[in-house]
Amino acid sequence: MIVSVCRRSPARSPSGQLLGLESPWTVTRVELAVQEQRVDIWAGHAEDARWACPECEATLALYDHSEERAWRHLDSCQFQTYLHARPPRVQCPTHGVKQVRLPWAEVRARFTTLFERLAIDVLLETDIVGATRILRISWDEAWHIQERAVARGQRAKGPRVPTRLGVDEKAAAKGHRYLTVVCDLEQATVEYIADDRKQASLDGYFQGLTDAQRAGIEAVAMDMWEPYIQSVLTHLPDGTRTIVFDRFHIMGHMGDAVDHVRKQEHRALRAAGDETLTGSKYLWLYGAERMPEQHQDRFLVLPALNLKTARAWAIKETLRQLWSYRRTAWAERHWKGWYFWATHSRLQPVIDVARLIHRHLPNILTYFKHRVTNAVSEGLNSKIQTIKKRAYGFRNREHFKTAIYFHCGGLDLYPVTHGIPG
Ligand SMILES: [Zn+2]
Repeated sequence: MIVSVCRRSPARSPSGQLLGLESPWTVTRVELAVQEQRVDIWAGHAEDARWACPECEATLALYDHSEERAWRHLDSCQFQTYLHARPPRVQCPTHGVKQVRLPWAEVRARFTTLFERLAIDVLLETDIVGATRILRISWDEAWHIQERAVARGQRAKGPRVPTRLGVDEKAAAKGHRYLTVVCDLEQATVEYIADDRKQASLDGYFQGLTDAQRAGIEAVAMDMWEPYIQSVLTHLPDGTRTIVFDRFHIMGHMGDAVDHVRKQEHRALRAAGDETLTGSKYLWLYGAERMPEQHQDRFLVLPALNLKTARAWAIKETLRQLWSYRRTAWAERHWKGWYFWATHSRLQPVIDVARLIHRHLPNILTYFKHRVTNAVSEGLNSKIQTIKKRAYGFRNREHFKTAIYFHCGGLDLYPVTHGIPG
């Protein structure tokens, strides 16, 4: 059954408002197809209406119409709703024949602005596949809305550059393919993403900034990774003073060293039939104060067994205290004691990391000036991890990047509505 309603309602009538119609547009016809659960609405305009050239805003008479088009709109009582219209064209003396702007949709959009806003909200809460089910749109359509939202947000972004940056690498896929991710540590947003973890990966970010913007960067928290170091030294006027090798990465290196010691010791013990270290891998990754309750009994016993692994762990935990000092001089004193202990531990993986840290010490101690860590990037990383787990929704790496900007970019994603409560 098709119910057809022909009428002219003023633009400010409830139906006009719901559609985002404004003068001179009015609803001219409504068709309700109950079986198909679909509503089709036609918009028309007064014949004497005058239109603005989309380029220069000059007010002009109607020239002609483009072909009729349809835009998917917000569902009406679960009925899929489509708005139809023939977009008017003007002939501007300066810009030639142009299609005018429509109040309910952006240029080339297949959805009304209100539908796009809803779709963005849904996409922020779920993944592409979920959005296709909820919104009853195709994968490509959902993806296109997300992509347009990111492009719109990036265009709207002001020239402000973060003063405190975090630079991190992120495994993009199996097989050591990386992305370089630049974060704003104050806003907790992803500012920039590039392929690989080379110097050029980070160079791309700095090269997009003006000299004044680069000069405004006060601190860059990152890992002791030579390509990133070189990029900062090349592009920031006072690069050496801005770099902070942050504690998350340093403690990560120490954690790896402890694990290395554990593996070697476990192998040796097991060869002698001793299973003391079996299944203890994750135990040693915890900090003393964060040990989960179910492991505590076992953990109290293990360090007392005079294990190399326990010694490596104690050295790691003592290093952590370095960042608790309020003054550089005290931190340096702690460092000296720690360095002596670590380098005399006869645990090669620990000695290697101690030397690595020693080589980079000046830019570890910059922490006491800038007080930045990559804790924010760590938080963003887990968000990115969630995005990656939905990888079945991504067909390539560019999609992955767009999704990161969509969810973590702090961008204004929404299209502008024209005075309609959105
Ligand atoms: Zn014009």
